[in-house]
Amino acid sequence: MTDKPPSERPPSERPPSERPDIWRSVSEEKWRDWRWQMGHRLTTVDDLRKAFPLNGNESEELSRCLDRFRMAIPPYFASLIAREGIGGPLWKQAVVSSAELEERPALRLDPLNEEDDSPVHGLVHRYPDRVLMLLTDRCAMYCRHCTRRRFAGSREHDASRNQLDRYLAYLQRHPEVRDVILSGGDPLTQTDLKLNDFLTRLRAVPTVEIIRLGSRMPITLPYRITDELCRMLEQHHPIFMNIHVNHPDELTPEVKEACDRLTRAGIPLGSQTVLLKGINDDPITLKKLFQKLLTFRIKPYYLYHCDPAQGTAHFRTPISRGMELIEYLLGHTSGLAVPTYVVDAPHGAGKIPVMPNYILTTFPGGAVLRNFEGMLVRYVENGEVPQDVIPEGVTGVAALALGAQESLAPVGMPRELRRLREGPRPRESSRNRDKLEIPDLFCMEQE
Ligand code: SF4
Repeated sequence: MTDKPPSERPPSERPPSERPDIWRSVSEEKWRDWRWQMGHRLTTVDDLRKAFPLNGNESEELSRCLDRFRMAIPPYFASLIAREGIGGPLWKQAVVSSAELEERPALRLDPLNEEDDSPVHGLVHRYPDRVLMLLTDRCAMYCRHCTRRRFAGSREHDASRNQLDRYLAYLQRHPEVRDVILSGGDPLTQTDLKLNDFLTRLRAVPTVEIIRLGSRMPITLPYRITDELCRMLEQHHPIFMNIHVNHPDELTPEVKEACDRLTRAGIPLGSQTVLLKGINDDPITLKKLFQKLLTFRIKPYYLYHCDPAQGTAHFRTPISRGMELIEYLLGHTSGLAVPTYVVDAPHGAGKIPVMPNYILTTFPGGAVLRNFEGMLVRYVENGEVPQDVIPEGVTGVAALALGAQESLAPVGMPRELRRLREGPRPRESSRNRDKLEIPDLFCMEQE
C-alpha cells in the first residue's frame, strides 16, 4: 500500500470498502468486468436508494422524472458519486432531476436538426468530407445534458445489419467522405466482435481514410477499455477517439489506466467537454480539467456550448460566459490545454467557433491586436504601410493604428514586474539587429 489518499491510489490498491455498501462484497474480478457493470446499472429509484441515502421527497421527485426520462448509472460511476456526495457535479450529470421537466419553446428534441441532414436513417452528412454514423442507442450512462436524449437509451438496441449495409452503400456512393465518426449512443457498448465486424467492413471502403470513435465509456465505465478491445482497434488504424469528459473528478486512476491502454495502442485521444452550469462553468474547474487531461495524454479538443435540447434549460449558460472562460484560459495556460469553444448552431448550421476578440482595429497594411495581458500592439503585416499624417496629441488605439506608437502596456503588468525583479537578459545592440546578426543564445548564457 502507498501513503497516497485513497482516491489517488491505483485501482488495484483501492479497498472495496470505498464502494457503497451494496457492492462491498463484489469480487474485484467482477467489479472490473464491464459486462457485470452494464448488467448492474442503477436504473430505478429503488436502485438509487440502495446506493444513496434518499429522503421520501427526493424519491417521489425522482420517480416522476423517471416516468419520462431514462436513467442508467454503472456501479463504478455511482461509487465516484458516493465519494463526492449527493448533489455534486457527478450526481448532477447522472441522476434525473425535476428540472428536466421544464419545457421551453426554443429548446428542441432534435436541437441540431440532425434528422434533416440524414440521407440514411442514423447517418448524418453535414460537412463536406465526413459523416457521423449512429451504431447504437445504448450508453453505459445516460447523461442528463445529452443532445440526443430523444434517442439515447430509447430502446437499447444496436443498428441492424440492414442499417449498417445502408451506411456502407452510402459511402460507396459518396467517395468524397474520407472521415467517418462512429457515435450513438456509445459505440463501445457493443461487443468487440460486433464492432470488429463493422470496422472491418468500413475499412474495406477505399475512400475512408480515418475513423473516429466518440465515446464516454472511458469516463463512465473505464473497465470497458480492455487489452482485447485495444488489440482489435489497432487492426483498423488510423483510429482516433474523442472522449466526453466534463469535470476533473471524472479523471480517476481507472480512467488513466484506460487512456494508457488506448494511447499504447496508438489511438490519439481528444476530449469533448460540454459547458454546464453548476458543473464546470468556472475558470478554476475548467483549467484544472484541461490541464489534467493533458497529463492523461488527452488533448482538449472542443468545449461545446450546451446544445438547446429539451430538458436541459437548467444546464445552459450564456454564450458570453463561455467566451469569458476562454479569456481566463488563453495565454494563462499552455495552448495545448485550451480547446476550441464552439456553438453547435440550430437549423443544422454546424459548429461555429466563438472566441474573445483579440483584434481591436485594422488599418491599411496592419492591425492593432490585444494579448491576454491586455497589452495592445501595432502589427504591420508587410513591413511597410502608407503613412498618414499623424494629428498632434493622438493617443490610445488610434495612436497605434496611425503609427504614433508601437505598443501600450497596462501599468503593473506581472511580466513587466518580473522583468524588473529578475533583470533583463543582455540584449544584442540595435546595430546588430539592423544587420540581422543572430546572437548565439547558448554562448550568451555561458558568458
Ligand atoms: S454518453 Fe453521449 S450519447 Fe450517451 S447519454 Fe451521454 S452524452 Fe448522450
